[in-house]
Amino acid sequence: MKNFKRTLTAIILAALVASLSGCENGEIPVSVNPESSSESSSVSESVPEISEPEQESEPESEPEPIPEPVITLSKTEVERGSYTVLRAENIDLSGVSFTDFLGYERSFFEKDGAFYCFIPVKVASEAGEYVLSFSAGDFEYSGNIVILDRSFYTQYLTIAEKTLEETLEDENVRAAFDYFYQNHRWYFSEEPLWNGGFVLPLGEAYYKETTPFGTFRTFSNGDTEYHNATDMAAPGGTPVYATNSGKILFAGWLGLTGNTILIDHGCGVISWHYHLSAIDIAEGDFVEKGVLIGKVGTTGLSTGNHLHFGLSVGGIFVDPMQMIGTEPDFDFGKAAEE
Ligand SMILES: [Zn+2]
Repeated sequence: MKNFKRTLTAIILAALVASLSGCENGEIPVSVNPESSSESSSVSESVPEISEPEQESEPESEPEPIPEPVITLSKTEVERGSYTVLRAENIDLSGVSFTDFLGYERSFFEKDGAFYCFIPVKVASEAGEYVLSFSAGDFEYSGNIVILDRSFYTQYLTIAEKTLEETLEDENVRAAFDYFYQNHRWYFSEEPLWNGGFVLPLGEAYYKETTPFGTFRTFSNGDTEYHNATDMAAPGGTPVYATNSGKILFAGWLGLTGNTILIDHGCGVISWHYHLSAIDIAEGDFVEKGVLIGKVGTTGLSTGNHLHFGLSVGGIFVDPMQMIGTEPDFDFGKAAEE
């Protein structure tokens, strides 16, 4: 009862203070000390006469509620060698970065008023449950991601001694490739440059997958790797077409991968083409989907004419075949529903 009385007294006092200082919306000022509050000083200098209550003004319209941030994942179950897209609405994530569940630094990019982040799952990841979390100011997000297992082929590859000497066993060749790789895999341009779904770079007629993505390889010198692309066999000189629109990020020779072309498709999506016999475009060119970029060959670490076709998302190679006929799903199927 005592408490109730105290509370009542406090409410009356607060109401009085509020009416004295001309507050709107019944807000109670933080400071009512005349010395520190210029707004209330004129009221506090003289004892106010209790006058007619002010004319009730029109009831103020409800203030717009601040919408809660909404975080959506395009998929919460992701196969090894695939990716999910995180979309954040009603929150400004510019400049926010975080470490993903595989230990990679990720940041967001803005598109049409929402923020996005590609979260790729590398082929060598272990299947299981992971937690994806980030914070921005007071906001904290945490969500579960399941990495689904997927079986991949294994392959033993005999490489001619001379080819080995010129590629895997040449320290300079390896160092040059590592330098090139680290310098390009994280490349990021803000705008999507792709135009609809991705297409087969050799066209349907020459599509013959010889080494699928994710194949665990052992070379005859003992080196091992997960093959991070799809190899497609075709006669030397077969035209290679841009899998989608974009900007030529690299076009040149590397000892390990021979004639090499990288296309930036925007937002961290890059296609990689190795072992070409010819390059028909130049670095910096913008290419439309389907235009000739080069020709199939067997340059660099290669055992026969084929195209090595890779696709990386956010610095991680994913299965390029999952992109054929589709495009990175920014709209989460929204457009299709409308
Ligand atoms: Zn390959």
